[in-house]
Amino acid sequence: MQKKNIAILGSTGSIGTQALEVIQEHQDKFNVEILTARSNADLLIEQAILFSPKIIVITDKKQAEKVKTALSNTNIKIYSDENSLAEVVQGDNIDIVLTALVGYAGLLPTLNALKAKKTIALANKETLVVAGELVMNLAKKNNCAILPVDSEHSAVFQCLVGENYQQIEKVILTASGGPFRGKTTQDLLYITKAQALKHPNWTMGAKITIDSASLMNKGLEVIEAKWLFELENNQIDVVVHPQSIVHSLVQFKDGSIKAQLGLPDMKLPIQYALGFPDRLTNNFPRFNFLNYPQLTFESPDFNTFKNLSLAFEALKKGGNMPCILNAANEIAVEKFLQDKISFLGMSDLIANAMQKITFIQKPVYEDYVLTDIETRKLAQEYKN
Ligand code: NAD
Ligand code: MG
Repeated sequence: MQKKNIAILGSTGSIGTQALEVIQEHQDKFNVEILTARSNADLLIEQAILFSPKIIVITDKKQAEKVKTALSNTNIKIYSDENSLAEVVQGDNIDIVLTALVGYAGLLPTLNALKAKKTIALANKETLVVAGELVMNLAKKNNCAILPVDSEHSAVFQCLVGENYQQIEKVILTASGGPFRGKTTQDLLYITKAQALKHPNWTMGAKITIDSASLMNKGLEVIEAKWLFELENNQIDVVVHPQSIVHSLVQFKDGSIKAQLGLPDMKLPIQYALGFPDRLTNNFPRFNFLNYPQLTFESPDFNTFKNLSLAFEALKKGGNMPCILNAANEIAVEKFLQDKISFLGMSDLIANAMQKITFIQKPVYEDYVLTDIETRKLAQEYKN
């Protein structure tokens, strides 16, 4: 089999580094062509030396000199200008673009990669939240696969192998419930960022860890699932499953349910997306039912975790509302991490943006760009 050439956007992050671990174990199958990062020059240099990509991009200009000096005796091309991230993904020899960067920044590179007919391994769920319809239409038009990396969506995707999407009755996304499962609004009043950054089952980047604590992550995943699997809004349910063993389920029209199970380890969904349609061998620890005599399930608490309700509201409203939700949430998380707003204040900020930003029923790309800019501005000015 010919090696697959991979571009990793966000190679120094949680998903990016785990993807490189997977690739290192399967050097006969994958070749790293492009690595990109925002500002972690030291790790990017280390990765570049180890994997010898053709191109690297560091978007933080201040770090570019350091990278150029450190790699001056190699043939690696190093870019740091504004458009480079979106341009390099179109390179002729790229087969798969793994989008492992955070937030809205993933949208343009993904659209450009699709224009160049690349397969996308999609970790960056925000891309589909912001502009799911646009992205999926382009993927369809250019006959490109979008392979989910998010563990829940990988689970659904695996359940759907050999199935007809028309026969889905509903998709049930599981949620761990995060570190504050069972807490009341009163309990959450004085949550610190240190508490919110401690996820019970997964180690991830800061933004998604806060999103998991507020359940916004699940809300974003509901919208992500709608677009990936062509679902109506009422075909997506969320169930809290604190052990994070059942990664999600699909119920079909005859009532039969398929689930995908395993220990919580992102390397598995990453490997499945990169290796698809093959299953590659590995020596990850295996799940043993006897160690988990109880797998439990409960309803999410929509009243305490208002971000989940807001995401369902955005899903229902459609148009540019999920884009507003996403931009407001990115600023909310940033402000919470800078101790500028409270944990619960994040929901107030997002609700305010959803009320005030102009709603557009049928947005085109430029509308998303403007919506994102306007929402960020409003959210930055928000005080609670
Ligand atoms: P992270 O913060 O650990 O890493 C992000 C990477 O992207 C870094 O390499 C960083 O340099 C780069 N980056 C960040 N912002 C950027 C920007 N504006 N422009 C260019 N590069 C930028 O994040 P992560 O936890 O690996 O998450 C990455 C994506 O995958 C997110 O969309 C997240 O929701 C999704 N995801 C992550 C996990 C997980 O387990 N970490 C699971 C499911 C989905
Ligand atoms: Mg997930």
